[in-house]
Order: sequence, then structure tokens, then C-alpha cells
Amino acid sequence: MKKKLLIVLLVLIAVVTIGIYYMISPSGDIDQYTEYYTDDTSLPTKGKIKVTFFGVSTLLFDDGETQLLIDGFFTRPPFLKLLTSEIYTDSTLIDDLISQFRMDRVKGIFPTHSHYDHAFDVAYTTKKMNATLFGSVSTMNIGRGGGVKEEQLHLTRPYEEISLGKFIVQIIPSKHSEPNSLKDSGLIIKEPKPQPAKMTDYPEGGSFDFLIKHNGHQVYIKPSPNYIEGALDTTRADVCFLGIGTIGTKEPAWQNKYYEQTIGKLKPKLLVPLHWDDFTKPINQHLDMLPRFVAKTPKDFDFIIQKTSADKIDFKILQAYKSIMLF
Ligand SMILES: [Zn+2]
Repeated sequence: MKKKLLIVLLVLIAVVTIGIYYMISPSGDIDQYTEYYTDDTSLPTKGKIKVTFFGVSTLLFDDGETQLLIDGFFTRPPFLKLLTSEIYTDSTLIDDLISQFRMDRVKGIFPTHSHYDHAFDVAYTTKKMNATLFGSVSTMNIGRGGGVKEEQLHLTRPYEEISLGKFIVQIIPSKHSEPNSLKDSGLIIKEPKPQPAKMTDYPEGGSFDFLIKHNGHQVYIKPSPNYIEGALDTTRADVCFLGIGTIGTKEPAWQNKYYEQTIGKLKPKLLVPLHWDDFTKPINQHLDMLPRFVAKTPKDFDFIIQKTSADKIDFKILQAYKSIMLF
């Protein structure tokens, strides 16, 4: 009898283990889209902008004179650690990346909202890069908690335009994707937030898109897949970096509306997807798709590829550390 019970228990443990492994494994194989991969290792020459991807929506913009960082999330703590303990910025990793990618001219850091997968590392990066941190009250308090000086903190206003070198960055009020699994949309970090901290210590605090203007060109960055009806009616962009994570879990009517309210309005010539990778895996590896328990990432890609192809919009994918030259 005891032996039978033990066998049942072992089978149960095996089934649960396989089930968990299945749910946290990638929702698809990103390498089935290698035909869309791109990389340009050259240096930006006059009038061009080189954009390098570091996962989620962390992007380094460089026109050869000035650099900007969107988000700046590099630490990417593993899933188990996120659930069980407090987390710290990985300063060794960030120092290595700053050196490897020559991030020595970063003037501004722009977190798109204050969730940890966007803003967790901003205090360290702002200090290390001697840059200015731009964002919401929550983002300012993440900076303060990490010891950023007040003169390096810039609380942004809706539609404000910020000039850095030849770049002008306009702050566009936006809407976080829904459902927000943390149920903290609009919640604000009211006090300086030091580390270590838990993932849940970083509520959303308001979301932004960015319209980057440079030498007569416009680049739109929309990291979180959602829209405000009519908000982009009069905005146009040559290039759009678009959040696509989890759109494959939505109804076709919502997907079409999202596309129509973003790409349909901006009418870019090129689309580069954001927020499709599993950010509980390190940046210094090949990026995998989001796991099965949160997303159906191949459906995100298939939808966007089908739509952009029909509209004759170029579609390119950046893997970790890969770059694209714009204009
Ligand atoms: Zn978020």
C-alpha cells in the first residue's frame, strides 16, 4: 500500500514539474523568423541614427554625437528570484555593457513607465552615465531612491519636447497594455525607492510613448501594446518601434483596432517589434519569446507580419545587441 502511494506521489510530482516547465518555456521559436533579422555594425554617419536593442523596450539611439537610452533595463532577474526574493541592479553587468557598447555619450534616459522591466536599473545607469533621467513622479522616485542628484532628475509634462543634441524627444501620454497582471496601472511611487526591492515595488506610474525627431525624420516608440482612440490621428512617423507582446492573446477585433490606431495612423515605412522577449532570461544570450503562461508570441508576429506585408511596410527584428541604421 505504502509503495503504491509513493508511486502515485512520484507521478504527481513528475506531472506538476513537466506542467510548470511547459508553461515557463518559450511560447514559440523566434528563429523561425530569421529572415526578418537585421544587424548593422557600422558607425552612424552624418544624419543617420543607429539603434541597438537590449531586450523588452531598451533601445540605445546614437547619431554619432549624442546617445539616448529608452528604458535601460539590463538586469533581468531570473523568474524564481523574482518570486522568492528582493532584487538588485547588476552593476557589474551594466558596467560591462556600457564599456562594450561605448555608451559614453548618453545624455538622456527615458523609461516608458515604472514597471521593473523598464525602470529597475535607471538610478544606476543615470549615475554611471552622468545623464539626465526623464519621466513620471514614480520614475523620479526610483532615481532618488538610488541616489541620483536632483539636478539629474527631470519630471516630464505631457507633450513636452526635450532637446538633446540634434534629437528632440516628445513625451506622448499613453496607456499600459491590458490586462495589467500586476493590477497597478496609475499607481504612483510616492517616496524615494531604494534597492533591494521586490518586483511589485515598481507600480506602473503612468505610461508614455516617445516621438523622436531628428534632422526632419520622426521615429515613434510605443512599448506597451495599447492605444488611446484618436490620439495619433495627426501624428506621422518614418519608423515605428511597436510593442507586440500578448497581442496574440486578444480578439481579432482588438488586434485590428490596435494596428489601425497605431501603424494605420503613423504610416511608417519600417516597423521593429518590441516587448516580445522573455525578460527573466539574461540579456547576454539569444533572446527567447515570452513564455507560454503569458503570451502566444508567434501569433503576435504572424499578425504583424501579415498586416505590414499587406501595407508594404518593411518589418525587421532585432535580437539582443543587434542594431539597425535609420535614414
Ligand atoms: Zn508594464
